[in-house]
Amino acid sequence: MKKDDERLFDLISPIVSENGLDLRNAAFFGPKEFQATWKRSGNMIDIRISDYLIDAPDDVIADFSKTVIGTIKKKRPTYGRTYLDWVRSDEYIDSKRKIYLRRSRNLTGSPEGNERNLIESLDRLLDSGLLDPGSIGNSFFSWTKIPNVRKFGFCSPMMRVVGISCLLDDVSIPEFVLDYVVYHEALHLKQGYRPGQRSHSKEFRQQERKYPKYEEAEKYLKALGSR
Ligand SMILES: [Zn+2]
Repeated sequence: MKKDDERLFDLISPIVSENGLDLRNAAFFGPKEFQATWKRSGNMIDIRISDYLIDAPDDVIADFSKTVIGTIKKKRPTYGRTYLDWVRSDEYIDSKRKIYLRRSRNLTGSPEGNERNLIESLDRLLDSGLLDPGSIGNSFFSWTKIPNVRKFGFCSPMMRVVGISCLLDDVSIPEFVLDYVVYHEALHLKQGYRPGQRSHSKEFRQQERKYPKYEEAEKYLKALGSR
């Protein structure tokens, strides 16, 4: 790890200097979600960057560092093409998703629940034409271990992982309600990883409303969440 941190320091240091700051420390760290954090005192900064980039090429790390330093300088974050192409590649997703799933302690790691299978939900959504195979390509669906009541599903567009609350792994929940939650999260996959942009855009909401029983499903979930 130390050698990796030295490399990181050498890559970030010139970019930090160009921005009138001094890099004191740079390190990779391993939170579940991809992120960068920093501490600033005067012109001195310490930066930590997600270890999902630990084996990325120099130009990718440099490109992402520009985004981080821009944010430290309170500029509106912009993400470079070199960085985006790297983290959107199947190669990146395939290797980092394994780590992400290990770190996701609340996921069972399987789309097969006790009573329901998420793959069957996806098949129904594909058969009905609401989803196309391309939009959910290279993705992974899993049930959660804890039955979240307020958040029925979540999506990491970067890792292309969807988690669905095991509260819905129950035949007493109408199938169209489960499928609706899966549909919502699948729309995030369709949108893809686009940092710095709104995840529930106007366009997203329009697509969400295409679900045939949209109103009923929303109503059902609202009632379920407030039990
Ligand atoms: Zn959402």
